[in-house]
Amino acid sequence: MTSVKVAVRVRPFNQREIDKASDCCIQMDGDTTSITDPNTGVKKKFTFDYSYWSHDGFVTDPETKMFVKDQPNSKYASQVLVFNDLGIEVLDNAFDGFHTCLFAYGQTGSGKSYSIFGYDANIGIIPMSCIEIFKRIEAKEAKAREDGIEESPPSANGKPKHSFFANSVGYDITVSMLEIYNESVQDLFVKPNKRPKGGLQIRESKKDGVYVEQLTTIPVFSYQEIADQIERGTSLRTIGATNMNNTSSRAHTVTTISFKQTFYTGDKPTNQKNSNINLVDLAGSERARTTGASAERLKEGSNINKSLSFLGKVISILAAKAQGKKEAKKLVVPYRESKLTRILQNALGGNSKTSMIAALSPAAINYEETLSTLVYSNQVK
Ligand code: ADP
Repeated sequence: MTSVKVAVRVRPFNQREIDKASDCCIQMDGDTTSITDPNTGVKKKFTFDYSYWSHDGFVTDPETKMFVKDQPNSKYASQVLVFNDLGIEVLDNAFDGFHTCLFAYGQTGSGKSYSIFGYDANIGIIPMSCIEIFKRIEAKEAKAREDGIEESPPSANGKPKHSFFANSVGYDITVSMLEIYNESVQDLFVKPNKRPKGGLQIRESKKDGVYVEQLTTIPVFSYQEIADQIERGTSLRTIGATNMNNTSSRAHTVTTISFKQTFYTGDKPTNQKNSNINLVDLAGSERARTTGASAERLKEGSNINKSLSFLGKVISILAAKAQGKKEAKKLVVPYRESKLTRILQNALGGNSKTSMIAALSPAAINYEETLSTLVYSNQVK
């Protein structure tokens, strides 16, 4: 891994926090985020690559009586800004043939899905990345036409070999979606009653590295197709048989967009670049600390705790190695300690980029969880 970028993003107050008249415990100043302990008033400061203040809070300035932004030195981030900071790089990497991982970390309801998937018209990083990939390929096709490049796309048995072809490069995009629930890997493109008991197996081969056996990968030709598949996959996420409440927050969801470029000289393929863009909506971090829970919830909590803490370890060891830190040289990267890091092994190691968005609630009533999210994010930098 060559680098890791960490962004934190605070969401607006939700109704529950407003109803409880909760104070705000987060301040942002440039890329620094501070959190104040509501009981002691003690302030802790953290600096990240980006600190995003996402809500349009306005207050009346006591002197001028004008409406002013409530945190004037913070970055009021829209979905587009977050995409420009974090998503564009993911795409540039994909075209260059590198793998990437983008994680969303935080307690349930803090804005992970909002950042990764988005809601309604406020689309998030996944849809924006998909739109952009097709836009870039279409631009290459248009440019080849404009330049008068005449070519017959390679075909086999009368069928084109690639989904797109421009200027001697074939492009293919597939999407897959899985969830890891209680250390069992499930294919989200397969209906729950058709899934193998015990989940899918993780294998390793010389050619493909680490991969999930029998995972469905679906070729896609447009953004809308990806959006439709992701919607289908999302609807098939784990719903506990006995308790419908917030079940998806107990699983990690990994959406992978595989992007393959095949380069031709004449009609012979001469080179190939494969890159996986892994977008990971992590299980709610509060689930790692379930107290007073049933045996099943305890097992769930300890699995989530284990996988989140090994993820943190893997990322921070890789980052320390990439920075050439002496003490990191001999450390073994514990990929095999959890399914999540094992599945993402190819994408995390080697020449790849990793980013994390940590989602935060602004409310003092969530102080403990938010502090723990900040500490976690600080440690993976
Ligand atoms: P999580 O995935 O962490 O459980 P969600 O992404 O579902 O949380 O967010 C919870 C709620 O907060 C949603 O209604 C969402 O629309 C809203 N929300 C989250 N982040 C933002 C944001 N940056 N700006 C506006 N609304 C947000």
